[in-house]
Amino acid sequence: MMNKLLSLLLVLALGLTMVACNAAPSSNQSAASAATTGKYTPGAYEGTAKGYGGDLKVTVTLGDNQIEKIEVAENKETAGVGSVAIEKLPTAIIANQSLAVDAVAGATVTSKGLLEAVTAALVSAGVDINTLQAPVEKSAVEKRAETVEADVVVIGAGGAGMVAALEAKAAGKNVVIIEKMAMAGGNTVKATGGMNAAATSVQKELKVEDSVKTFIDDTMEGGHNINNLELVTALAERSAGAIDWLASIGAPLPELTISGGATNKRTHRPEGGSAVGSYLVEKFVQNIEKNEIPVYYNTKATELVLSDGAVTGVKAEGEEADYLFTGKAIIMATGGFGANEEMYTKYKPELKGFVTTNAPGATGDGIIMAEAVGAQLVDIDQIQIHPTVHQATSIMLTEGLRGDGAILVNQSGERFINELKTRDVVSAAEIAQEGGYAYVIFDQGLCDRVKAAAGYVEKGLAVQGDTVEALAEQMKVPSETLSATLKSWNKAVADKKDEAFGRDTGMEYDLSKGPFYAVQIAPGVHHTMGGLKIDVDTHVIGASGEPIPGLFAAGEVTGGIHGGNRLGGNAVADIVIFGRQAGQSAAAYCDK
Ligand code: ADP
Repeated sequence: MMNKLLSLLLVLALGLTMVACNAAPSSNQSAASAATTGKYTPGAYEGTAKGYGGDLKVTVTLGDNQIEKIEVAENKETAGVGSVAIEKLPTAIIANQSLAVDAVAGATVTSKGLLEAVTAALVSAGVDINTLQAPVEKSAVEKRAETVEADVVVIGAGGAGMVAALEAKAAGKNVVIIEKMAMAGGNTVKATGGMNAAATSVQKELKVEDSVKTFIDDTMEGGHNINNLELVTALAERSAGAIDWLASIGAPLPELTISGGATNKRTHRPEGGSAVGSYLVEKFVQNIEKNEIPVYYNTKATELVLSDGAVTGVKAEGEEADYLFTGKAIIMATGGFGANEEMYTKYKPELKGFVTTNAPGATGDGIIMAEAVGAQLVDIDQIQIHPTVHQATSIMLTEGLRGDGAILVNQSGERFINELKTRDVVSAAEIAQEGGYAYVIFDQGLCDRVKAAAGYVEKGLAVQGDTVEALAEQMKVPSETLSATLKSWNKAVADKKDEAFGRDTGMEYDLSKGPFYAVQIAPGVHHTMGGLKIDVDTHVIGASGEPIPGLFAAGEVTGGIHGGNRLGGNAVADIVIFGRQAGQSAAAYCDK
């Protein structure tokens, strides 16, 4: 969720006594400058740079000899990702009096923007930046060995892991989570569209007809029928309950859109069309905190521990300790391997050189750890590319954008596909266009209805024009062709009939309200459908075909649910539905 109200005032103690003794008011640059005798001209200086969600503005307060305070103004960095960098970096810069601080892993764009904004402020204060590049000393403290005991140990604080932890805790178990990054969220925080579910209370309320059977059929067909039907059936049957559960923990998804390959409007999303992932991650983290479930951040699980054939623990490397976490049940929720080029090109060499939409933690660790204790893998070479990825930033444009009425055009300004075909089909069609790329076209009407669309414009991903002709000029595509394309599309919407490509969903609104926008996109590696073989109770299945005692898994680390192609909206369904199941199954296993 965009971090609208966050205006972090980072007033740090360092040197405050000195400031108090200094007659010059530090917030008033001109008043202060007269009295200085130190390295810097005391005062408050502003700097701005591009962050992830738009401009990042900082005010840096200088004392005679040190950076005293860094305030970050209201901003739109992602809560739980960019906000972590905003929390940590100013503290690190002040503590070390250096700009050579490490970016926060997973929030590199915000980190870079913040450092640039601080640098700009310092430059405006006449500071020689070269004097602020002293390497930051890392403490050379010897790591201690520590054992942590729990009933249930969850590896990975993405969506599946946090949901599993909440359910195991609700069943009365003592739970801990291990997370290798500095923050929760993994790939889940990047999910934009929504959560698929059928025959839900929300659909009833909004008078949308749907059925569990249609959800199963769409998912199987979208996955080229290689999906595990039992898992898909469990997904669909448990989906309505999962929507109600989310509402019960303060994370309702009261709106509906449609995603590619769906027969009905079943993609549930937050009010106002906000991106689903950052919204849910924020709610999950709040619930984890409320339930006092410890999360060991910056702690990387490395190896599962077996005793008498059962998984009873996991070794992990923290910043200050090497851990052994022991538990009656271990839940693997480490996500996929879409950020591990070596691993995905091993299974699908043709993906070499593709950008990835994945969070940096998605490196397949859980698959490797579980394989080492005999887990079976399924569909491991099934890797999805997403058709609408802005290449320079790797930001993925939600499928909901097309579900809400956006179209795709090529370099000639022409449509070339039913935009709501499944991701594999749309991606292949894009690759076949000149240059292997396309544009997503939308209008102000769509921005007014869907926050995510307005967000792409704010992030600077789009070119725009008040008229279609002006947009064509910005895109450098033939103006008459683009105008004709929009005209015939708007007629198709009015007639409810797309003669050209047979599109029959996402046609409620035409594209007629200026300004008009275009984002240049191409496919990028998105989701690894294969992974650990599980049953409907989330037991991880071993080589013998039997569950490996004590080991459960949920989310992108598993395989079989999505088959050969995942439908948009089914990843969030997967993590919530099977995350819940993993928590419940692990808790029940503890009682055996
Ligand atoms: P899912 O959608 O299945 O929940 P995510 O990608 O959202 O998957 O979350 C997986 C989480 O697991 C990420 O936060 C990632 O950093 C974390 N993770 C991956 N490998 C490890 C590991 N070896 N130890 C601890 N955490 C890990």
